Amino acid sequence: MSDNETRCGHAGCDCTVRNGEQYCSDYCREAASTDRSEGPFCECGHASCASNPAGGGG
Ligand SMILES: [Zn+2]
Ligand SMILES: [Zn+2]
Repeated sequence: MSDNETRCGHAGCDCTVRNGEQYCSDYCREAASTDRSEGPFCECGHASCASNPAGGGG
């Protein structure tokens, strides 16, 4: 197993970023930067995070 890909910096994100990148999307970048605890899920929009656990809609 080669750690070719790196995990997104966002804690609540389960996406992988390319070598060099820190976040999979701007959303995570902002989320990580700011100290807001939105929730355990991520809203970057990627399929990996799209299927978030059961939860009340918006
Ligand atoms: Zn995500
Ligand atoms: Zn991310």
